[in-house]
Amino acid sequence: MARILDGAALAAAIKQEVAEEVGQLATRGVRPGLAVVLVGHNPASEIYVRGKVQASAELGIHSELITPPAEVTTEELHALVAQLNARDEIDGILIQLPLPPQIDSKSLLDAIEPAKDVDGFHPVNAGRLLAGRPALAPCTPAGVIEILKRSGIPIAGQHAVVVGRSDIVGKPVAILLLHENATVTICHSKTRNLGEVTRQADILVAAIGRPGFITPEMIKSGATLIDVGVNRLATREEFDRFFKGNEKREAAFAKRGSVVIGDIDPRAFDLSGAYTPVPGGVGLLTIAMLMANTVRAAKMRRGFE
Ligand code: NDP
Repeated sequence: MARILDGAALAAAIKQEVAEEVGQLATRGVRPGLAVVLVGHNPASEIYVRGKVQASAELGIHSELITPPAEVTTEELHALVAQLNARDEIDGILIQLPLPPQIDSKSLLDAIEPAKDVDGFHPVNAGRLLAGRPALAPCTPAGVIEILKRSGIPIAGQHAVVVGRSDIVGKPVAILLLHENATVTICHSKTRNLGEVTRQADILVAAIGRPGFITPEMIKSGATLIDVGVNRLATREEFDRFFKGNEKREAAFAKRGSVVIGDIDPRAFDLSGAYTPVPGGVGLLTIAMLMANTVRAAKMRRGFE
């Protein structure tokens, strides 16, 4: 029987630890502060941001939600970032992506003070991560490592195959796995014979953005499957391809008109040794790691670690 790596339980444990750290910082007169910038009205972004603000409140982290209108200019956002960089009570600055098309997102993310870059997207943090120096690591990749470690899944010496090479997931996950002494292979859209490579994986991380892309034939029996993908199935045809006859999913589809699926075909999970479900896996760790990064930023900026 494949073991389910329960994102909710792991996220709760991390949040508990973060809350304890917040309590310890309070005894030193420090309250970590997170500024979340949400531009315009993207419904998915609004849900993510609400989760981040709520988690901050639960853990005793000060948070500020700043909501510039959709027509805001790059210059105005640069002025906002400069203000947040200068404010000592703000330890973390998060600009919710995607930004409207008129905004130069790269220049804006680069303008965030690296010490406050709790998303870990700044090139300085990416470089530090690569060089094995203390860095704020991107939240989702850091969450993947926490899942493996806290579940007692060995990483050192294992062959980890990462499918996807984005700057925010694939590449940093691969670097973090390398730092944990895995033998790492990174695959992407130009990889030849992908299935041959993925079948060698002891740990397979899928960060592709294609529903159920990794099929049962592409995995080794007993492998650990980490599914980062979040995709929506919104048509009956798509739904039936993966979930026909699955009562729980049928009920969700009837209620909401869509269901969420990862990048791994759920039928592959049955062959695995352990896997992260979607929903209920990696996604839940992302906010927990953002909270951990905010507390870490507060400590690092004050020389506490
Ligand atoms: P990107 O679109 O930036 O990257 C996708 C990667 O997948 C690329 O490197 C691409 O290769 C590779 N890829 C695409 N098609 C294929 C293929 N046919 N064969 C092999 N590789 C392929 O996506 P992200 O990294 O931002 O996100 C990946 C997934 O993770 C998405 O589903 C996203 O929603 C989810 N996600 C989940 C988060 C969470 O908290 N759970 C957080 C962030 C993302 P190439 O570089 O060659 O184009």
